Amino acid sequence: MSGRAEFDEIRDLFRPLTRGAKEALGLADDVALIPGRPGFDLIISTDAIVEGVHALTGTSPPDLAFKLAGVSLSDLAAKGASPDGAFLNIAWPLSWTALDRRNFASGLGEALAPYNVRLFGGDTVSTSGPFQAALTVLGWAPTGKAVLRSGARAGQVVLVTGSVGDGWLGLAASRGEGDFDSGDREALALRYRRPSPRLAFSDDLRELASAAVDVSDGLIADLGHLAFASGVGVQLDLLAIPLSQPAQRWLARETDEAQAQLELAAGGDDYEVAFAADKSVVSKIGERAKKIGLGVTPVGRVVDGGGVQIMFRGRELTPKRTGWSHLVDKE
Ligand code: ADP
Ligand code: MG
Repeated sequence: MSGRAEFDEIRDLFRPLTRGAKEALGLADDVALIPGRPGFDLIISTDAIVEGVHALTGTSPPDLAFKLAGVSLSDLAAKGASPDGAFLNIAWPLSWTALDRRNFASGLGEALAPYNVRLFGGDTVSTSGPFQAALTVLGWAPTGKAVLRSGARAGQVVLVTGSVGDGWLGLAASRGEGDFDSGDREALALRYRRPSPRLAFSDDLRELASAAVDVSDGLIADLGHLAFASGVGVQLDLLAIPLSQPAQRWLARETDEAQAQLELAAGGDDYEVAFAADKSVVSKIGERAKKIGLGVTPVGRVVDGGGVQIMFRGRELTPKRTGWSHLVDKE
């Protein structure tokens, strides 16, 4: 594509996603310009996805857009930040048609609109390899009030939003693996393709939680990150972990219950929020979550020491793996 045609396409595809944001300067300048907000911290996170790694090869352009938006915004949700804008860095595969690119852009618009996230800018390249993109998301939190991983204290309760294990089951379901009813297979696959960032809960989280982490690698691994950052241990009650109905039906068919529960807790791709809060606010957390139709479940407690101790029917289990890592050889 020639330079001019390329710029025209970028404007055409992505200007609607700015939704008139002044910050974007019409996607016609070298930069975006974001006025500071007195009394607020700017909270920034970036996530990349690669087709074939974070999404199955052949995933539709709109589904790639939903995945990218979901995984990125989930980090803001876990910090108690209010989302504001985003920057998109994209590598279009040479095999994509103009319609594929348009479908991606409109999918991204659809994924960001419910959270009022406006596109402020980005960069566009092409690649002979698979689709890849990174979304940098910006949100605001009152100064000093963002919920970090490091605030957990012994004696607190550990909770998690929504349900755990669906992302991992959804990957298996999408690949045609596993034993699922067809309705469950579709529901789980959708959860994997289009995660829901828990942004509706972020104000409550900021008010009531003292530490939080987004559950992306796997609940056990991510609680390990929270424990490490806080200098504490976490005792996780495997049977307390909230499971969706499809996950419960999957579990009921598994012969080794402990191993199956461990797989769900280590699976990853949940995009829930795990957090620590004082015992005294647990019932209030439940009420607030109920108001927005979200489940929030106590799954363990913060203890002195380090690491994640996994309890199952009164005994301690040692998992073979705790979560997803790009750097570890696969089994
Ligand atoms: P440069 O010449 O410095 O690389 P560009 O020409 O790439 O700048 O960008 C021109 C404008 O288009 C900028 O406002 C930039 O933010 C915007 N832009 C380019 N690619 C994207 C994209 N994928 N999403 C959103 N905005 C984009
Ligand atoms: Mg550029």
